[in-house]
Amino acid sequence: MSERSEPAGVPGSGLVKGLAVTLKTMTKRSTTQQYPDVAPELPPRSRGVIALLEENCTVCMLCARECPDWCIYIDSHKEEVAVPGAARPRQRNVLDRFDIDFSLCMYCGICIEVCPFDALYWSPEFEYAEYDIKDLLHDKDHLGEWMATVPPPPAHDRNGEPAKEETAAARKAAVPAAPAARPTAPAVRPEGPAGDGEGASA
Ligand code: SF4
Ligand code: SF4
Repeated sequence: MSERSEPAGVPGSGLVKGLAVTLKTMTKRSTTQQYPDVAPELPPRSRGVIALLEENCTVCMLCARECPDWCIYIDSHKEEVAVPGAARPRQRNVLDRFDIDFSLCMYCGICIEVCPFDALYWSPEFEYAEYDIKDLLHDKDHLGEWMATVPPPPAHDRNGEPAKEETAAARKAAVPAAPAARPTAPAVRPEGPAGDGEGASA
């Protein structure tokens, strides 16, 4: 049986190192934040609560399916919308229920990542503790209210790649406009000896 060997060192060096760290920390300014008297300065991408932009939601159910905690509950019904000129009315999903249970949510952000229609956002708001755990189930109206606290998207990194939309727009603008089509003269039918003019029948 082999014994684990400790690295050789000067006896007491660990104690000196520990005291040095203590002294260094003692001379630093305190970083205690006086919350709740002073609101904390949170990073812009803080994950506080999930906000729902209801009009963007198409009830595709991707977020509910991908949520690892199964804490998103969605109900909907179909509605017929008459489209002028169309043979048949179109169908669209109408959201009846969109709840997130924040007592189960682990703030992984998968629902926000997978939403193809930008209907879910992170808000840095975190002051929504409740006395009753049941009140941590936020319905669609409550989730919609959080939209007011969603920060605007960060500015583009000047050294980063431009967005695909910008590249496409620049490419489109660089293409010279096609010359306008010239009006064509009406086709003149050549008159020949075997033509069907009046002279042929005389
Ligand atoms: S953040 Fe994660 S756990 Fe919370 S609702 Fe979204 S997918 Fe589910
Ligand atoms: S993934 Fe987005 S669009 Fe689809 S149901 Fe969820 S929130 Fe609505």
